[in-house]
Amino acid sequence: MIETVETDVVVIGGGAAGANAALKAAAQGARVALVVKGLVGKSGCSIFGSHLPYHDMSSAQRAVDRLTYSVRYYNHYLTDQDYCLRMGAYMREEFFDDLERIGVYWRRDEAGKLLAIASRTPALVAHKQGASGMILMDKRRRQILASDIALYEECAATSLVQDDGRIVGVTVLDYRRGRLFAISAKAVVLATGHSDYLATRSTGTREQSADGIAMALRAGADLANLEIQWWHTSDVLAPKSWMRFHIYPNPLMGTSETARLYNSDGQLFYEQKTHSPGASAPYTEQIRRLALQVAAGKARWDGGYFSGYDHIDAELTRTYQHQAAVWEKLGMDIGRDRIECGITLHMRQGGVCVDTTDFTTSLAGLYAAGGVCCHYLGGIGPVSYDGKIAGITAANEAAGSPRRALPAAAVAAEEQRIYGFLRTAARDAGPRPIQAKGRIRAIMWELGYVKNEVRLQAALDALAQVRAETVPRLTLDSTSRAWNTGWLDAIDVTCMLDACEATLRSALNRKESRGPFYREDYPYVDNENWLCRNIIRRSDGRWWSRTEPIALPHLKPEKTREPFFEADY
Ligand SMILES: Cc1cc2nc3c(=O)[nH]c(=O)nc-3n(C[C@H](O)[C@H](O)[C@H](O)COP(=O)(O)OP(=O)(O)OC[C@H]3O[C@@H](n4cnc5c(N)ncnc54)[C@H](O)[C@@H]3O)c2cc1C
Repeated sequence: MIETVETDVVVIGGGAAGANAALKAAAQGARVALVVKGLVGKSGCSIFGSHLPYHDMSSAQRAVDRLTYSVRYYNHYLTDQDYCLRMGAYMREEFFDDLERIGVYWRRDEAGKLLAIASRTPALVAHKQGASGMILMDKRRRQILASDIALYEECAATSLVQDDGRIVGVTVLDYRRGRLFAISAKAVVLATGHSDYLATRSTGTREQSADGIAMALRAGADLANLEIQWWHTSDVLAPKSWMRFHIYPNPLMGTSETARLYNSDGQLFYEQKTHSPGASAPYTEQIRRLALQVAAGKARWDGGYFSGYDHIDAELTRTYQHQAAVWEKLGMDIGRDRIECGITLHMRQGGVCVDTTDFTTSLAGLYAAGGVCCHYLGGIGPVSYDGKIAGITAANEAAGSPRRALPAAAVAAEEQRIYGFLRTAARDAGPRPIQAKGRIRAIMWELGYVKNEVRLQAALDALAQVRAETVPRLTLDSTSRAWNTGWLDAIDVTCMLDACEATLRSALNRKESRGPFYREDYPYVDNENWLCRNIIRRSDGRWWSRTEPIALPHLKPEKTREPFFEADY
């Protein structure tokens, strides 16, 4: 059997959720291992975060605006409302102070009060818009490096190891050295994020292949609302490698103006301050309005429309906007020029089903935190809260549990699967994994925003064809084990296929439209039947599905059913 390392808690993922889970579990006295496919604090989507909501409760109106934003505009009622209140209290009372202690600079007014962007839903940035994630994740990285957490960077978890239904560890590929090993743990925290590289244009990066979703699915965990998949509308079109540079449509620091979107005739069709004043992350409304422009022939999904800040004093934008550098690097003038945009597949609201009080999942021994979960869209603050709770509860469980040996047969099967991809052939004899990844992303991109049963089924068939015909023929350029990116791509392909198939099946189950999810064959929001967790699971080679209603203790939608393009959320 491959080498096995023992620990109390293993955390998979080094973004805001995983880093905080590891730190909090270690603070409880647990022995912790942190496995990160990229580098801790430098991978995943946490580095892209900009706006950090301040959950201001200083007046009754502020409190209502914030909860309305979280529940209605950000999660389209598919969240746990009491979780929103608990998470909001954490962000107000702990999050900013905690980060300030480790060196993150927040602007404060003369009285020492945190200075937020003035909006109905205030937010902080550190210290320019667009730079917050990089700054605070760099501080988290230093915290982890200074701790006694066992850190495995550039190491990809490949499977959750199960013993009699309980998750007892994880297999890990150290792709720098080409070594597969196992970690035996009393509790496992999954924190692999939700912004994945699953369509031709995506905000996720190359290594984000939905591994967490795929590993949980293969282990038989419940997953919910995978189809609630957000898109960004105002991301840079060219150069292609800059697709995830975002022209922030949110309320801005230092001005009450917000970025604008223009169609190919130069007509303004969206700005947050006018069209979504209550929604400071207005992405679902942006794309709905873009869909109308595309239908009218005045924009394409991949270009033909533009965004910019040219109506705002350029000096002000340069002072507060990290993204001003994008204009400069493209040789453009932020006070005058607009940038052509395309849509990008963005964050998934759905994911692994969790109980939001302790972040347990449907599988014993497995916890999940942050973007990989189904309970809230995400954001650096919310996922940090999840990490904190999951880390503490996982450490507590580990303290009271005996260790279970890893079942040799399960580990051996994974060893065979992972090393089985190491085979070469001439380039024209078989497809390379990177080509299969490109094909999967193209299938999801072609499906795009406007869906219906026929198109969903066609995408599912196309994925099945990749699984049946391409995967068995995958070969690599080399069987070298160290830094063999083709090998890692092959493993990624299997995760992408599982995650995309589950997403499409989940989409076929949901017979309505909501938030970022638009089915033209069900073009209405149906609160009577679909205000629920739309749950999917694969076990014994079969797909299972069911729904669970979502409680509405504080806020309810006014209408049981309304046309999708008329709903304001
Ligand atoms: C372009 C963009 C803009 C955003 N803007 C904002 C904003 O303004 N404000 C805000 O609050 N939020 C914003 N967000 C959302 C926010 O960044 C996320 O909700 C949050 O950072 C998710 O954190 P996470 O820790 O769950 O996942 P991530 O930060 O994505 O981290 C995932 C981690 O898992 C690792 N991983 C993946 N697979 C494996 C594997 N197999 N084995 C081991 N490790 C693995 C990755 O390497 C990474 O370290 C934005 C996101 C994007 C993409």
